[in-house]
Amino acid sequence: MSTAIHVEVLPARLGDCLLVECPRAGGPTWRMLVDGGPPDTWPLLEARLRRLDPADDRIDVAVITHVDNDHIGGMLPFLGSDLATRVGDVWFNGRTHLPAPKGSSRSIDQGEDAVAALLGLTPATPGTEVDGDAAKQAHDGARPWNEAFGRGSVDAGAAGGHVVVTVPDGPTITVLSPTTERLARLADTWAAAVRDALHGAEREIELDTLPPLDDLEHLADRRTVRDASVPNGSSIALLVEHRGASVLLGADAYGAVLASALHGLARARGTEALVVDALKLPHHGSQANVIAALLAAAPARHYLVSTNGDVFHHPDDAAMARVVLDAPSGSTLWFNYRTPRTERWADPRLLEQHGYRVVFPDPARPDAGTVIDLPTRP
Ligand SMILES: [Zn+2]
Repeated sequence: MSTAIHVEVLPARLGDCLLVECPRAGGPTWRMLVDGGPPDTWPLLEARLRRLDPADDRIDVAVITHVDNDHIGGMLPFLGSDLATRVGDVWFNGRTHLPAPKGSSRSIDQGEDAVAALLGLTPATPGTEVDGDAAKQAHDGARPWNEAFGRGSVDAGAAGGHVVVTVPDGPTITVLSPTTERLARLADTWAAAVRDALHGAEREIELDTLPPLDDLEHLADRRTVRDASVPNGSSIALLVEHRGASVLLGADAYGAVLASALHGLARARGTEALVVDALKLPHHGSQANVIAALLAAAPARHYLVSTNGDVFHHPDDAAMARVVLDAPSGSTLWFNYRTPRTERWADPRLLEQHGYRVVFPDPARPDAGTVIDLPTRP
């Protein structure tokens, strides 16, 4: 049984940092890095990338799903390092990619220059306040940026839409989020979002409370407020398919946006629902994003949860209850940290009653996080 898609969900504390690899016949591995976690993930990410085989170490795509610190933090030192020369294309929606809201004409503000320059995507403008090594190394503006999209924005278009990118002999990648409208909303709050991303201090951590998991139906049905974070709504979410295997990388995207894009994609393919091998739950298993409509639109064999629970105490019990109740029988939950909060979902009583499995990282390799190989399917 050969591997079609290899996924690593690195331990990036409260954030996301994923490595996705697709082997190609007779050619180099197609490789995509999705987010870099918060800034303190960088040493671990750097060590991981330097362990790649020097004969096959290209990173075809580096995706920054959105500007939040727990996703962009580690990408700044990455794109400022020598490793950035291995990157074929950066997928990121910068200030220039955000559509103007109806009836307004806006000039580009300094916030855009700062973050794009820090990422090495545009020349730093004189007078722009940028700091750090990344800025010093990022002055030539030569880095390929959204080339797969004709240098335009990475978005799925109207609600329910999707955009397909094909890689010769490699995977098919379908953009499911953001919608053009969610990108336009980000334009309104861009300067504040960038300020938070670059300088945002984490909130103080409150004590987590862990109620018993004795009534999952009640937990799952709990009325929850939908995610209203504008940066989260601008998340780039991707479906990667290769040799019959598939992984849906949910970023911090809105559950309803993903669900309607998945329905549109299923309709376009003439199927009822799109069964995927693995679903990286959006927003670290937040109850505001992991909603029933999403779980119904993408039944999965494997659910990937990326968080150690820092700050926001993810994953939420309501979100995990929905997964356990709605997942196809025999599916597996993969947590990239074993914490008191995630451990409860491995209670033998729950596993037996609901027919699922749980996998935690190998305690002998705590830096590896979740490592999953999705086999080729005919
Ligand atoms: Zn996040």
